[in-house]
Amino acid sequence: MYDVEEIRHHFPILERRIGDRRLVYLDNAATSQKPRQVIEALTDYYEHHNANIHRGVHHLAEEATVAYEAARRKIAHFLDTPDTAGLVFTRGTTEAINLVAYAWGRKFLREGDEVVITEAEHHSNLVPWQLAAQATGAKLRFIPILEDGTLDMEEAERLIGARTRLVGCIHASNVLATINPVERLAELAHENDALMLVDGAQSAPHLPVSVEALGCDFFACSGHKMLGPTGVGVLWGKPEILEEMDPFLGGGEMIREVHLDHSTWNDLPYKFEAGTMNVAQAVGLGAAVDYLESLGMENVREHERRLGEYAYRRLSEIEDLTLYGPKRERTGIVSFSLPDVHPHDLSQLLDEEGIAIRSGHHCTQPLMRRLGVAATARASFYVYNTEEEIDALASAIVRAREFFGAFSGAKP
Ligand code: PMP
Repeated sequence: MYDVEEIRHHFPILERRIGDRRLVYLDNAATSQKPRQVIEALTDYYEHHNANIHRGVHHLAEEATVAYEAARRKIAHFLDTPDTAGLVFTRGTTEAINLVAYAWGRKFLREGDEVVITEAEHHSNLVPWQLAAQATGAKLRFIPILEDGTLDMEEAERLIGARTRLVGCIHASNVLATINPVERLAELAHENDALMLVDGAQSAPHLPVSVEALGCDFFACSGHKMLGPTGVGVLWGKPEILEEMDPFLGGGEMIREVHLDHSTWNDLPYKFEAGTMNVAQAVGLGAAVDYLESLGMENVREHERRLGEYAYRRLSEIEDLTLYGPKRERTGIVSFSLPDVHPHDLSQLLDEEGIAIRSGHHCTQPLMRRLGVAATARASFYVYNTEEEIDALASAIVRAREFFGAFSGAKP
């Protein structure tokens, strides 16, 4: 049984108080908190095993290498791929997508080629492609979103065609809570001999993910959003495609032989892991994945689906409040705004009650323009959040609305 009270005991930070209030942490889409199991894995690594990996023959180097490679296997299992050769450690989603945009994009994109992404991408799946397009003469095309925040799939079918070389899409939106039909986009991409890249920053932490079942060629996610440490994430890519790509960063470990005038590359995945990696963080991410698997990703999804629906219902009862995104099939995120109240002011007032939410453009400025707003407020839930915390959020928003209404002269 999913016991949220027991789960909360695993997260020391949830005992914190903000002023005289209990912390209500609802900024999980930005970064999640860490269970004791992950914190202890980091401490244990540094207290007992720390050494540089792959290069040493001494005892600690061996243990550190074993721990790092065990983490790779755990994450490969978590993403449902048997092959660890395709599982590259990166700093996170941003670096993973940049890796593809440089190492694949610079090598294979040509003038007249097209990269198709969506209007709702996080900047990290937009700006790297703008840079790749500038460098190669390729063009970017954008799948629009419909009024309810879902993708316009009819337009997607028209846009993805003979010129398309790669389709890129967020699996789940960090603003709208939409879960996108990336399996269908992968089919469309493959029918046109294009590749499919999935930005899984907001899906891997929250939904059962199988890169095989998604049918994608690349999948990126960030450890810090899935109970793991900062500074580590992964790029999964089909090994045969990674093999054809140029290296991303050059240096130690990614080489096989180095001569003064040329070098040859190491096997996968090491060809893409130049220099000393974030070893402790990778081990910590392995512990995070163990923890998530002990909860069961189906249970995590069900818990967050309930919280997301409950929050959507509670917040839609608040007068004048606008909610963004689809009504159904949502992840545990709610983005909203109140007329005449800047989201920053709203989140500051909520902070005084110990409630941490985010406000801003959420690194999706084109999406904000599409929604006709400069910013939204966003509450995002995870394994340890409760309906009581959502009640606290809803009451605090009502009080904030009254507070700002009194100043603006608007009806409270
Ligand atoms: N994509 C999405 C959908 C995100 O929500 C985020 C983080 N907000 C990123 C990419 C970037 O992740 P990171 O900063 O960990 O690289």
